[in-house]
Amino acid sequence: MEISFHKERHFGKFGGQFVPETLVAPLEELADAYNHFIKDSQFQQDLRKIFKEYGGRPTPLTYAGQLSEELGRKIFLKREDLNHTGAHKLNNAIGQILLADRMGKERIIAETGAGQHGVAVATVCAYFNKDCVVYMGEKDTERQALNVYRMELLGARVEPVKSGGKTLKDATNEAIRDWVTNVEDTHYLLGSVVGPYPYPDMVRDFQAVIGNEAKEQFAQQHGGKPDGLLACIGGGSNAMGLFAPFLEDKEVRLFGVEAAGSGLDTGHHSAPLVTAGPGVLHGSKSFLMCDEDGQVMTPHSIAAGLDYPGVGPQLAQLKEQGRLKVTAVPDELVIRGFKHLSKLEGIIPALEPAHLFGLFLDRPEWLEECETVIINLSGRGDKDVIEVAEYENRELF
Ligand SMILES: *Cc1c(COP(=O)(O)O)cnc(C)c1O
Repeated sequence: MEISFHKERHFGKFGGQFVPETLVAPLEELADAYNHFIKDSQFQQDLRKIFKEYGGRPTPLTYAGQLSEELGRKIFLKREDLNHTGAHKLNNAIGQILLADRMGKERIIAETGAGQHGVAVATVCAYFNKDCVVYMGEKDTERQALNVYRMELLGARVEPVKSGGKTLKDATNEAIRDWVTNVEDTHYLLGSVVGPYPYPDMVRDFQAVIGNEAKEQFAQQHGGKPDGLLACIGGGSNAMGLFAPFLEDKEVRLFGVEAAGSGLDTGHHSAPLVTAGPGVLHGSKSFLMCDEDGQVMTPHSIAAGLDYPGVGPQLAQLKEQGRLKVTAVPDELVIRGFKHLSKLEGIIPALEPAHLFGLFLDRPEWLEECETVIINLSGRGDKDVIEVAEYENRELF
């Protein structure tokens, strides 16, 4: 399965490189290496081997019979929950660490919010025997103590960040600071299709294994192409990974779901594509949640993986072009969707893709006339069981 090659520094008026002078050279080095190795057959072969022998790929495409009957459409689930470590995040971590290895970088740094990306990075660093430092806001290290311990078990050093609001944005700033000083031996392993060029392109292309497999599996299991693709959107990497191989298939419709959190009118949500306008964050231009004074808003979602005020620039472009239809689903429906899929299909979804099943309970007509739909089941819900129990005031311990 080929990884598609694109060399695009901008996505229309979105994307680009909005970075300090000191980052231009490191980004150029990374872009050169990426553009070289993505076309290198030995690199592709090694990548496929690790996906298969370590990551557990290909992941199945599961026909969801009972959900299909309920909705009157044929629903297929792309099972990224069955990846090693339980989510699609590993695909990108494997791709980038193989690239870093080819570039001769022995030290890996990353930012993490809830800890999911940090765990994926710590995992591949153990596998590749690389030094690993994960920057995490001090507040997040307290809220997500279990993931901190996981990363430590995997051999990573977790660096609590005490500046600013002590969350993801501050951890990202700290990781960038580290990268600028140590670029000689260090690769910055960014976790989604955000940030300056080449990250949105590179992360999309490493995640495109999802869509490439799904396309082939759908053709074999059902025949032809699906009418629609549906994914949840945080930074947008699982969505772009599914969509990318179908972008030229204009008859295949794209649907994305953001987090409405406590409600779009409360300000406590994480839905930049649905609610916001253009802005610059972490080195690229995209849709960005800002308040009246132009300050970046603090996002909220019950799903920690969707808790980001921005979104990948290519998704912003697809939305503007009318190619991508987006909506947002509130926390309360997400919990119902989480429980519904668990009972209906015997699959406990992560709270992030549980947004999609919450949507079906509320607005099953939103997918319009699509008869066959592939859903990206981006991760498993074991990590979220305690949070759901707490939401329902159920005492477990
Ligand atoms: C992190 C995460 C997401 C959101 O990130 P994207 O870059 O938008 O894919 C979605 N689902 C799961 C399971 C995650 O861990």
